[in-house]
Amino acid sequence: MSDFNPLKKYYRQPKLFVSLPSKGLFYPAGALQGDYNNMPVFGMTGMDEILFKTPDALFNGEASSKVIESCCPYIKDARNMPSIDVDAILMSIRMATYGEMMSIGHTCKNCGTDNEFDIDLRPVVDYFSNLKFESNIAIGEITVNVKPLSYKELTDFSVENFKLQRMLFQSGDMTEEQQQEHLNGIYQRLAELQVDLFMLSIASVTTPEGVVEDVELIRDWLRNADRPVYSQIKQHLEKNKETWDIPKQHVKCSECGTEDTVSITMDQANFFG
Ligand SMILES: [Zn+2]
Repeated sequence: MSDFNPLKKYYRQPKLFVSLPSKGLFYPAGALQGDYNNMPVFGMTGMDEILFKTPDALFNGEASSKVIESCCPYIKDARNMPSIDVDAILMSIRMATYGEMMSIGHTCKNCGTDNEFDIDLRPVVDYFSNLKFESNIAIGEITVNVKPLSYKELTDFSVENFKLQRMLFQSGDMTEEQQQEHLNGIYQRLAELQVDLFMLSIASVTTPEGVVEDVELIRDWLRNADRPVYSQIKQHLEKNKETWDIPKQHVKCSECGTEDTVSITMDQANFFG
């Protein structure tokens, strides 16, 4: 980009400023440059929108990373940003591009009426900005330090998980025995994927003697620890995941008044205004 372009004063301007939920933590060196508490967000360009509407690219996070870097110039490496910032950032980009309200379709479970609800995204982004990622789990005299997955780790996991789930239904012309073997293989890989995810979430273990960061040493310890240790970490990770999900929205049917909650996701179906 040239500073001498006479059209420069007509470039897009930041539409809003947000506070990153991660508080700027968990970014590798250089991946975030600027004040996490006052990060400018630009609306999408026409080119961003074209890029973002390509279905396959969205699924593996490639296109969304490029769009995040385009609209949030403080973020230099979106693939390696902590995944806990992704929803808040995508919502902010959506607000900067299409406005604060997002329309959600919902079918009433009581009378079957198809309702359209306008959800205000501002309080949702504020919700994330006020969260704190709980990274310490005290287990006796040991403290396990967990971290959010990077955006890349999260999307890689989703892609792998999706592939395996799909393979469950592709047993083709196999004999019954081959089918069983095929299924066992996939279940095994799904279980391994869960363990990998678990291990990726552990940053270090602090003992009175010092800090252990080596993944293999931590893995060996978990193989040799009592079961409650594993479940305590697992519960903590599950609670974190729940806290960092987009809060469910309360809605009321326009026809019969039945109340319900709807989940919003920042996927392609919802993203575009
Ligand atoms: Zn209804």
